[in-house]
Amino acid sequence: MTRFRQYVNELFHWNEQMKQFLNSQEVEENSELWNQLDVFTELIENTNRELSHEELLQLQAKAENIHEQMESYFKRKQEGVVGTIFVLEKEVPAGGHTLPELSYSYHALEPYISEQIMRLHHDKHHRSYVNGLNKAELNLKKARENNDFSLIKHWSRELAFHGSGHYLHTIFWRNMSPNGGGDPQGILKQAIEDYFGSISTFKKQFSEAAKQVEGVGWAILVWSPIAKHLEILQTERHMLLTQWNTVPLLVIDVWEHAYYLQYKNDRSSYVDNWWNIVNWHDVEMRFEKAADKNWPAI
Ligand code: MN
Repeated sequence: MTRFRQYVNELFHWNEQMKQFLNSQEVEENSELWNQLDVFTELIENTNRELSHEELLQLQAKAENIHEQMESYFKRKQEGVVGTIFVLEKEVPAGGHTLPELSYSYHALEPYISEQIMRLHHDKHHRSYVNGLNKAELNLKKARENNDFSLIKHWSRELAFHGSGHYLHTIFWRNMSPNGGGDPQGILKQAIEDYFGSISTFKKQFSEAAKQVEGVGWAILVWSPIAKHLEILQTERHMLLTQWNTVPLLVIDVWEHAYYLQYKNDRSSYVDNWWNIVNWHDVEMRFEKAADKNWPAI
């Protein structure tokens, strides 16, 4: 896919996300924001030829403009000028975790990750983390009710293992896309270059971290709200060697179940191929939220 097509696809994706967001925030249908997004949709839907650099910049400026308007709308909404903000994300009660659906099909990441791996990994492995986390939470709830904490060490381990497993896999699925690949853009690109020197140096270190995880685990790009810089961590299993109060942005699973059926013991090829499916748009969105200056550093 050309860089241009990829960019237009990203705009489509962004447009869809904005619509979902407006829906989730119950913005009224006659709102100016909806009109703006509709006009924008029409614009990119009719974009079927290579645009000049200037035209692309104009398109980008339009997207940024809509984004700014949305920001100011929601800021006013928060300040009570246009009513209350509706937060539809539900709190998960103890034992209430569910397996998140993938936004693409099991075969969508082929040839880089096979359908068989994706099916087992998501439906079996991830599901077992969800079940394990629910079980740990329910047993700890029971412990509180019975005031019996004799098994707290066991359930705390289960909570950390399955909880980290569930949360990391949730990020991992979103970190990938059939339309992925390429390099990061915008402020994430800047932040990577500032700290690691260049995108290629970052990719080199991240790949080495993934390849050299001792035993099973993950390589994780995090944002530290305290240091205000990015960092690359390795974690063994899901929860050892972590650095708390960092925000995972991009993660790769290097447990054998993530690649063995296809790559056997060649973790290295799996890691190298994985870059072809990285959903940088998702990583950028996560970074923008995590690096928000309003994020409390404590
Ligand atoms: Mn896994």
